[in-house]
Amino acid sequence: MSDSASAPKMPQHARMSQFDVVDNCLQIGGLPLPELARNIGRTPFYAYDSKVMDAQVTALRTALPPEIHLHYAMKANPMPEVVRHLASITDGLDVASAGELRVALQTGVNPACISFAGPGKSAQDLTAAVTSGVIINMESVGEMQRIAALADSTGTRPKVAIRVNPDFELKSAGMKMGSGPKPFGVDAEQVPAMLEEMASLPLEFMGFHIFSGSQNLREQAIIEAQTKTFELAFRLSQSAPCPVRWLNIGGGLGIPYFPGEQRLDLNPIASNLAELVEAAKVQLPGVEIVMELGRYLTAEAGIYVCEIVDKKVSRGETFLVTNGGLHHHLAVSGNFGQVIRKNYPVCLGNRVEGDTPEEVNVVGPLCTPLDILGHRVTLPAAAPGDLIVIFQSGAYGLTASPLDFLSHPHPAEVLL
Ligand SMILES: *Cc1c(COP(=O)(O)O)cnc(C)c1O
Repeated sequence: MSDSASAPKMPQHARMSQFDVVDNCLQIGGLPLPELARNIGRTPFYAYDSKVMDAQVTALRTALPPEIHLHYAMKANPMPEVVRHLASITDGLDVASAGELRVALQTGVNPACISFAGPGKSAQDLTAAVTSGVIINMESVGEMQRIAALADSTGTRPKVAIRVNPDFELKSAGMKMGSGPKPFGVDAEQVPAMLEEMASLPLEFMGFHIFSGSQNLREQAIIEAQTKTFELAFRLSQSAPCPVRWLNIGGGLGIPYFPGEQRLDLNPIASNLAELVEAAKVQLPGVEIVMELGRYLTAEAGIYVCEIVDKKVSRGETFLVTNGGLHHHLAVSGNFGQVIRKNYPVCLGNRVEGDTPEEVNVVGPLCTPLDILGHRVTLPAAAPGDLIVIFQSGAYGLTASPLDFLSHPHPAEVLL
């Protein structure tokens, strides 16, 4: 065990600017955090601020060319109220299962503005997709044949797009989902043959879905990937049986989680996209261009709040033990795609600043050393009953966590 006096200082985060602090209390949805906690009646909970989502959508709409349709990729945060809110301010939804599709359809969004991606779609998934009339992003030739068989048996002509596994990758993406051998999509080089086979099937070909990665904070890497995405779509369209009407260019826009990370500058991305959109008007006349974003729309709008249950000192380090942990929020523990664990931004929500800051380890109640919410973070001196807030928690939180590990109660969830 290292001694905290000699341990290297952990890099600390700048103050999160999306939420106000009034009378030393964090405010969310116009309420001081302790009041929100009292209203909810229990901790832990996730709270999502719709105004922060609105601001993200407005920033995108202001920067991006008006031809770009913005979709919300539901898996980032499938809470029905969140989906309903985002459906009302975006142009469509992307779903990854029949369960997500059900929630998407309940928002009243036009099924033609919903797309369904994901490898291994079951017979139930495909039936739900075909009967509702959404665009199916086909992940393989086998899936195309299963959809065609369903179309024959139901007398329908499903809308389909080919999800392409590109022949390039989004450099330095947090999670690479394109290039190389992948379970996602059809290798670019196999697409012409698939298009030829499709020409004789009862399918309505819409276009391509090309998604090359996630959580990217480098504008130049995003620009390069988007340029290559359009070039690939232009190239593949030459083998298409009919004009390409729909091009989903994926997302990939990241948000800052860790000390030293900066918010993306949308302007260079937007000016490059404006050129690509103009090129598409020539190469793919009438094409609808969709950008699908999950994390970028919801992550910064959400906080995860838990309560300190115990405070103890072990061999020179202070531990704040809370009632929340990785069972509710796997990503904050560093076990959802991170290579090296880094701290999410954390604060004491009911006393943001204090005279006697302490370096502490914030941990959860699970019997595993992985259950870390903050490693050597500096917080005002805290005690049982105080509220720990984890910022940037609106995406890949509750539903990306092993909720039943150790059988603790599930967290509450509110949209404000
Ligand atoms: C997960 C996913 C997204 C959303 O990614 P974010 O990083 O949350 O924006 C978009 N499209 C597809 C196909 C996905 O699988």
